Amino acid sequence: MEDRYSRQILFSGIGAEGQQRLLAARVLIVGCGALGSAHAESLARAGVGHLRIVDRDFVEPSNLQRQTMFTESDAEQRLPKAIAAANHLRQINSQIEIEPHILDINYSNVERLVEGCDVVIDGTDNFATRYLVNDASVKHNVNWIYGAAVGSYGVTMTIRPHQTACLRCIFEEAPPAASAPTCDTSGVIMPIINIVSAVQVSEALKLLTGRLDDLHGSLMQFDVWRNEWRRIGTGAPRPGCKTCGAGIYETLSHAGDAAAVLCGRDAIQISPPQPTRINFSSLAERLRRAGEVKFNEYLLRFKTGNFELTVFPDARSIIRGTDEIATARSLYAKYIGN
Ligand SMILES: [Zn+2]
Repeated sequence: MEDRYSRQILFSGIGAEGQQRLLAARVLIVGCGALGSAHAESLARAGVGHLRIVDRDFVEPSNLQRQTMFTESDAEQRLPKAIAAANHLRQINSQIEIEPHILDINYSNVERLVEGCDVVIDGTDNFATRYLVNDASVKHNVNWIYGAAVGSYGVTMTIRPHQTACLRCIFEEAPPAASAPTCDTSGVIMPIINIVSAVQVSEALKLLTGRLDDLHGSLMQFDVWRNEWRRIGTGAPRPGCKTCGAGIYETLSHAGDAAAVLCGRDAIQISPPQPTRINFSSLAERLRRAGEVKFNEYLLRFKTGNFELTVFPDARSIIRGTDEIATARSLYAKYIGN
């Protein structure tokens, strides 16, 4: 396997020294769905020495169209994504360390996961987790690379704490719950995943090999169906940003947590991070593509598989059919979205 990295070493941006740095590096992949699959495969093939992969979900048949880490057999066995990914990655590159975690990232574990990593790369599907990662990364001075995709649209941005703008410098608050389409209500096509991941992974390689001048320094947006490509410069941290300016990390405390187990009811309550008013008719229109929906002025009820989501006008939701917070958070991110 001596030849394994030869083409990457020949590439002047990396070279032999860069390859040594990659082999010594540690990267946290947050979420192993479509983006996370693409990140994990690229980073493993590139020889990043230690990959920590965190995901709370199981492989489902509807994942296979775009989540390249998984096979039909993984979906039949309903394997946890972190485990299925680790199995495949070990076959791709047995010389690196893979550390899978079947875990719902929240205030109680995010700092432990981020600390000690050289780069955090976003493969998640919701803003609640992204603000959590932003807080932990800025607090512990770990570079992180935001990325998201839905439909044919994608966006990415690289954050170097205290050197460049953070996620909260650019978007002060997450978009309100139920305000934006999700992959589970509006679909997604694989090419946009590949583009966003390609940019995120390139940025990770630049960060890990110390090529900071080559970072793109912008909020990059793509739409592969409408043929639109846009870059907005992001610059330095914004004075007044409560995360990187004031050092207030509100998502890292228990008070910032959104989930609560409703005892004895086989149900979990999820509250949105900030107050909002939901438009039930537009949410119902999106959800109708994914299951059965009914609503009146007080609540909206959505059934999918064995789960029932009751959503209130302020976006607070009760998810019935599970007593696991991870499952409830996953359903909220997929169908309500924030
Ligand atoms: Zn900031």
